[in-house]
Amino acid sequence: MEIVCKTCKKPFNAHPGETASAAIDFTFGRKHTFICDNCKAENILTKAEYEAIKDAKDKPEAAPKPVVTVPKPVAKPVAPKPVAEVKPVAQKPVGAPKPVAAPKPVIVHSEPVEAKPVAAPQPKEGKVIVDSLRIRKDHNTSAEIVAGLAYGNKVTILGTWTDGKNTWAQIGPDQWAAIEHNGKKMIEVV
Ligand SMILES: [Zn+2]
Repeated sequence: MEIVCKTCKKPFNAHPGETASAAIDFTFGRKHTFICDNCKAENILTKAEYEAIKDAKDKPEAAPKPVVTVPKPVAKPVAPKPVAEVKPVAQKPVGAPKPVAAPKPVIVHSEPVEAKPVAAPQPKEGKVIVDSLRIRKDHNTSAEIVAGLAYGNKVTILGTWTDGKNTWAQIGPDQWAAIEHNGKKMIEVV
């Protein structure tokens, strides 16, 4: 077969015996050295290089290979696209922060509103100063009794309720005890 010399660029003919020994070299993963008939230069070929020459000779239409490299430059135009996308992204933040800033104050306002029912944000301590005190589900004497307190018991007053006459302390979820009832003091607020 014909090989183009890498040194003198001229084609030279590789003898059938040479190509046979080259095939053995390639089988063992080795390169094979062909000597140029024109300039006696060594042409060291790998299996891939050898087969490329062989294919080119067997199939003159082996040109599709360069076609495969064409899609690569096509990929380059794809890259500029992200660059173009970055621009609109950069524009969005410019407008976005403004509406974002507005809702925030609204949220801040709603929080204090919820906090208002708790007249005393910081729980106070109370001490029971009557022999027995009922804990009820609500701040009235007809509400269900859920537990009881005795003299000296300490309670945490989470909030208070009053109708102007009687005052109740909330000491837990659904737990109310009278601070003052019918003019009699039940709990001493510390
Ligand atoms: Zn040569």
